[in-house]
Amino acid sequence: MTIDLEALCSEVDSAARGVEAAIGAGATEDERSRRALAFLAERGWLGWAVPERWGGAAAAGLCAPDEVSVRALCALRRTLARREGLLDLALVEQGLGSYAIARAGSDALKEAVLPEVAAGRRVAAFALTEDEAGSDLSRVATRATRREGGWSVAGAKTYITNAGIADEYTLLARAEGEPGDRDGLVMLRIPATALGLEVRRFEVMAPHPIGEVVLNDVLVPDEDQLGEVGEGMDLALSVLARFRTSVAAAAVGFAQRALEESVSRLQKREQFGRPLSTQQGLRFDLAEMDTRIRAAELLVDLAAELVDEGGDATQAVARAKLFATETASWVCDRAVQHHGGLGVRRGTVVERLFREVRALRIYEGTSEVQKLILAKELLDRSREDS
Ligand SMILES: Cc1cc2nc3c(=O)[nH]c(=O)nc-3n(C[C@H](O)[C@H](O)[C@H](O)COP(=O)(O)OP(=O)(O)OC[C@H]3O[C@@H](n4cnc5c(N)ncnc54)[C@H](O)[C@@H]3O)c2cc1C
Repeated sequence: MTIDLEALCSEVDSAARGVEAAIGAGATEDERSRRALAFLAERGWLGWAVPERWGGAAAAGLCAPDEVSVRALCALRRTLARREGLLDLALVEQGLGSYAIARAGSDALKEAVLPEVAAGRRVAAFALTEDEAGSDLSRVATRATRREGGWSVAGAKTYITNAGIADEYTLLARAEGEPGDRDGLVMLRIPATALGLEVRRFEVMAPHPIGEVVLNDVLVPDEDQLGEVGEGMDLALSVLARFRTSVAAAAVGFAQRALEESVSRLQKREQFGRPLSTQQGLRFDLAEMDTRIRAAELLVDLAAELVDEGGDATQAVARAKLFATETASWVCDRAVQHHGGLGVRRGTVVERLFREVRALRIYEGTSEVQKLILAKELLDRSREDS
């Protein structure tokens, strides 16, 4: 039996309505992130970020039992992002940070870690980026040196979501070759308690637990190696391929909320003796926002279905990520404008959305990287045809 995603999202939405204030109220970012995790864990919803086979939610009818359903993840992220960004983040990071284990870990490692992540008892993080390795991951320089029974890892990762609150890192390191070589990379699972692992936090413009993860000769046993040496890049990219569409879905959720805020404000606010909603220019804006959001949503649905069904989704995913995140930024900007001064005042919903949505055009492949992917496919196909 296929799960009824609409019914699930409606349940999630009703519950998330009340949590908005509770998570946000006067706590530190880490406390708020933990509350968001606990909220999802209590209701079993973190399970949607982990395959059913290893303790995840029952996604029968949507994808194979050893996969994460992108359709389900997208539906949930859209719903959660509409209410509270930290809820959305808490859900997806459990998947991003653990999916490499589901794909390439030993059975023992999968059984030990994945059910814990699905239940929210262990928090996951995904560590690829370095100072010199951003869009170009072949520049990864964090070094994994062979030791008896495992690896010694030295280097530093940056912009790592959940750094400091994570219990588990899946991390890309270089076992062979030099920065710039695509080969020679390996993925490793590293628990946060590993000796020599240090976290240095920093802040970004919106609520987001993030920081640098420094590895001072951290010992990683062979049991925690994910896949073979040389497979690291492909494994890391396969994680992104699975989860990238859901960034687009979150963008749609943020944009939907911004549009709702605009509709409400324009109806309430009177200037020049009548509600702003009677001004034709602003009405055109609402129509444009609505249409672009719907177009983004359709691209997300198309991409998510293709990924779940195992088709070649590269272009569909790139289109969805590019269009939805750029659209959401534009929509949130319009919503700020509709609110006038109130739009930039700390504490208003649209002010928060404007900040929250910005990073989505950068992480998991920037908009420019999505354009490169799309253009490459177009040019390759044209060459094959001629
Ligand atoms: C909030 C947030 C959370 C993040 N979380 C994580 C995480 O959990 N784990 C993790 O590993 N990383 C994470 N990242 C890092 C993120 O994936 C990188 O920031 C992203 O890949 C871009 O890399 P960069 O910042 O080094 O930018 P750069 O690669 O230096 O790019 C700078 C600019 O140049 C453009 N550019 C680069 N190459 C080209 C090209 N060939 N053609 C045209 N334009 C190009 C880019 O699109 C961008 O606009 C996060 C980032 C943010 C902001």
